[in-house]
Amino acid sequence: MRVVCLPRELREASTQAARAGLRVGLVPTMGFLHAGHLALVKEARARADVVVMSVFVNPLQFGPAEDFAAYPRDLERDRGLAEASGVDVLWVPTVEAMYPVGPAVTVSPGPVGSILEGAVRPGHFAGVLTVVLKLFAAAAPAVAVFGRKDAQQAALVRFMIRDFNLPVELIVAPTVRDADGLALSSRNVHLDVAGRRRALALPRALAGGVEVFRSGERRAGSIVAAAEAVLGREAGLTSDYVACVNPDTFLPTDAATDTTTLAVAARVGATRLIDNVVLGAGLDADVRIGD
Ligand code: AMP
Repeated sequence: MRVVCLPRELREASTQAARAGLRVGLVPTMGFLHAGHLALVKEARARADVVVMSVFVNPLQFGPAEDFAAYPRDLERDRGLAEASGVDVLWVPTVEAMYPVGPAVTVSPGPVGSILEGAVRPGHFAGVLTVVLKLFAAAAPAVAVFGRKDAQQAALVRFMIRDFNLPVELIVAPTVRDADGLALSSRNVHLDVAGRRRALALPRALAGGVEVFRSGERRAGSIVAAAEAVLGREAGLTSDYVACVNPDTFLPTDAATDTTTLAVAARVGATRLIDNVVLGAGLDADVRIGD
């Protein structure tokens, strides 16, 4: 596995790969790798000849009061996990290498960028899409793999690829959950035993919504209310939002269908967690560690 730092070094590697007729697969991450990230590598491996993983905690997508400084980092551990999972090129740019000046120009995410996650985290998706565009420019991937765990982010990357005619195939991989149902997240490391127990209200709320949907309810308001009731019963957890969204537009919908995404976000102490489920598929469609 090669480790490169500068965008220029990565561009050279991807130009070489293209000359040799090889497809590059890109897995963007913020590091502190877990099995969810490694599942994305597997998807990339199946579709590309050269797998590039980026590890970059992108300051542009964190608000001033958010956890940029406290975001967990462990590059040595990431390096070992990436190599063992079959990454060919680990790209670890510094903030200075990514943003030597500015940036003066950023990507505007449009209306979906300012609802749900974007409403709670103003500017977040402009930061995400700007860095993703920069990652695409340097890695020139034929295919890029993102996780459904960040469903709104995946939808916005899809919109950006479509609207800017980017020559990148987008793969969105299923959410990987721990044996207890909690979606894997680098931020879970901040949860103590009690916090983790509280955090389980998120998958429980999603399961509650799915149960109501399966019983025949199609009014999104009732499905959202069922999920909110589960979150509301958990003292020590603050819900940010619960919503049913159309998978194509990522806009809230009143009428739920099999493909509707039920999305939740909540805070347990200082730790912010998000999760979602496709109503018709249920949590069983996700990957569970230990199964
Ligand atoms: P992050 O490092 O949290 O920015 O995530 C990097 C990529 O991994 C994103 O595309 C995420 O959606 C994806 N990801 C994060 N957690 C999971 C998970 N539990 N299952 C699958 N993909 C995930």
